[in-house]
Amino acid sequence: MREQGEHPRIPPWGAMALYAGVALPWLGATLWLPERLQLPSLTLWILVSGLLLARSVRNLHQDESVRSHSVRGMELLLQHAPAGMARVHLGGARIGWANDRLAQWLGRSPASLQGQDFRALVPPDDPQETLRLFDALMAGRIDSFQVQRRCIHADTGHETPVLCTASLVEPGGQGPATMVCVLQDLGDILVARAALADERQRLAATVVDNTIEGVVVTDAHSRILSVNSAFTRMLGYTEEEMLGKTPRMFKSGRHDQAFYDAMWSGLNTTGHWQGEIWNRRKNGEVFPEYMSLSAVKDAAGRVTHYVCMFTDISAEKAREAQLDFLSHRDMLTGLPNRARFTSLLDEAVAEAAAAQAPLAVMLLNIDRFKDVNDSYGHAIGDQVLRHIAGRVHASLGEDGLIGRMAGDELAVVFKGLGDRSEAIARARQLIAAAGQPWSSPDGLSVVAGVSVGICMYPAHADNAQDLLQGAHAAVYGAKSRSGRAWCFFQEDMTQAARERLGMEARLRQAIALDHLRLYFQPQIDLATGCLVGAEALVRWLDPEEGLISPARFIPVAESSGVIGPLGLWVLREACAQGQRWREQGLAEMTIAVNVSLHQFLLTDIAGATADALAATGFPPQCLELEITESALAERPEEALGVMRRLRAQGLRLAIDDFGTGYSSLAHLKRFPLDLLKIDQGFIRDIPHSSDDMAISGSVIALGHAMGLKVLAEGVETREQLDFLRGKGCDFFQGYLCSKPLPADEFGQWVQAHQGRCPAVS
Ligand code: C2E
Ligand code: MG
Ligand code: MG
Repeated sequence: MREQGEHPRIPPWGAMALYAGVALPWLGATLWLPERLQLPSLTLWILVSGLLLARSVRNLHQDESVRSHSVRGMELLLQHAPAGMARVHLGGARIGWANDRLAQWLGRSPASLQGQDFRALVPPDDPQETLRLFDALMAGRIDSFQVQRRCIHADTGHETPVLCTASLVEPGGQGPATMVCVLQDLGDILVARAALADERQRLAATVVDNTIEGVVVTDAHSRILSVNSAFTRMLGYTEEEMLGKTPRMFKSGRHDQAFYDAMWSGLNTTGHWQGEIWNRRKNGEVFPEYMSLSAVKDAAGRVTHYVCMFTDISAEKAREAQLDFLSHRDMLTGLPNRARFTSLLDEAVAEAAAAQAPLAVMLLNIDRFKDVNDSYGHAIGDQVLRHIAGRVHASLGEDGLIGRMAGDELAVVFKGLGDRSEAIARARQLIAAAGQPWSSPDGLSVVAGVSVGICMYPAHADNAQDLLQGAHAAVYGAKSRSGRAWCFFQEDMTQAARERLGMEARLRQAIALDHLRLYFQPQIDLATGCLVGAEALVRWLDPEEGLISPARFIPVAESSGVIGPLGLWVLREACAQGQRWREQGLAEMTIAVNVSLHQFLLTDIAGATADALAATGFPPQCLELEITESALAERPEEALGVMRRLRAQGLRLAIDDFGTGYSSLAHLKRFPLDLLKIDQGFIRDIPHSSDDMAISGSVIALGHAMGLKVLAEGVETREQLDFLRGKGCDFFQGYLCSKPLPADEFGQWVQAHQGRCPAVS
């Protein structure tokens, strides 16, 4: 930057030095040459040096013009820069140079500013700061400073706010130190800042308006000043409807005063509160939101606004509720599962206790549901179960709760039901509802009844768990009544249930420890008195309890599945014993083995029999299987299939306990049977009961009519024997001849009596 009157000084020394550096060594060298070479060399020297000199001078001129051109450009740039500039000589604080912009702000010409004491330009009301800083700069304590000040127009008094940045410029030994000032128009900066702030605000407003969260701004008195569009969508009100009101207009009524007190106390202490809150939409719907509320404070710490952000969490809550539903529901029936039902029952008991009201818990166990699954497959089983659950559910009144407790178990609670006869009526209703047949679209029809165990509060138990346990025990009582029955809980039932569980474990152990024994009871030909066979009857020889009757443990084995291994053992042992006797030369006879309902229908009895025969070598025609009448009555078609497979092996089939199972005679005719065993219940009262005599007489005739042999069970007296003989009964067994005996005693008995019953004469 050039002050007025100064010109650039272009030093020619560079070009001269270059010339001298090249030309003089050459001249020296020329003078040392031989004389004949000096003249041409001198001429060449003059030519070359002339050329070099001319070139240097031209280069010097070119440099000078480039330099002066760039300096001018620089000068022009500074003169018209959009900032004010000045150079001040530190010595007398005189302005050495000022640009047009500064002169313009001060209402002066740049020339008139030159030489002016710059301190005179500092406004009188400047708090002396500029001058103090200038003094510090002069004294070398600082090398730059920045102040805000105003430039005042000399004529109009117009003030231009400026930011003045002053720096010390050391001249490096050429002239005195100067201060260079650059002044920026703060007005421009403020305008730019305001534009920036506007832009930011616009952006913020756009963001707020486009966010999916609802945003509400209120004043310090909670009056709504603005809401974004997400919030209007969320609540269903227009902005106009909300402005000026307080958020109390959204109150759902779901929160008590304590909730709002806690919210305000959190807000007042920390300036912030967040949590879940239920609000009400314009359409009245109450919905959950996640709310984040912040207080906005001014510099003095006073609350000026509240900003509230809402997230609608109703979808999330619905998902949670769905999960909750799933975790508490039985997937198949949609009913409450065991956990949920138990907690509902807990609540019901607590309510009943508070109201001193009774209630009834009923456990419904589907009769032979396992058979349904095994016969028709699990898909059908599921549909039958769903059907039963639906029918039972539909039959409950307002006061009934229902749940699925296990595979084939439903539980029902009737509140306010304490009367026995009323409970019986309800149980009958449930049985009737569950007994409706299920039909598949292609015409398959399945009927599965339920047995109902009833336990009453407070008569039988006073808490949910005991009530359920009591109802469970009572179901066993109902089951023993051949299905579709109800039974009230009795004290001894829990004992029986406990015993049943204990017995199941012990029975498994008994099989493993070889504590089972087979007893044999002779079967005698009534006409000849000869031994024709022996019925194998299982006994449990418990080391502590002694001999346990099959009447006690066979039902446990049946219901627990232990009947499978137990049945296999009996079959194998009976065949093995029969074969041993054959090998010993004991009288030719059949061995009759009892096959229970489950064993017959649910295990591979045909395969097991074939294995036992093969393993022992016992001939099939000597083996007789006794199947109870109820097994045939229950599922005649399947029974028929099994019996045909057994018959195909060559063994004999007997129907046991005939007269107790209400089997259809039409069905009976189709079964490939050999023997019909009249239940001892019809023999016991002969000759006193004319009914029994008539029935047994008819059964004998019927059996014969169907081409079967007939055996009377439990014959204890000679009268009974005579009566049966008179009716043409073929065989008998009973205490009259012998009690069931252990195998070795049986062998001895046969030998002692030479295969004849001494009672038959
Ligand atoms: P059940 O097959 O009808 O066997 C006849 C039952 O009557 C036997 O009882 C036998 O001891 C008894 N009994 C025989 N003669 C007389 C008599 O003159 N008077 C009286 N009062 N009773 C007589 P037990 O041995 O206690 O067997 C009871 C039931 O247990 C059997 O009835 C049978 O259904 C079942 N059972 C026995 N052993 C087995 C077995 O190995 N497997 C299966 N599945 N069940 C068996
Ligand atoms: Mg039997
Ligand atoms: Mg029998």
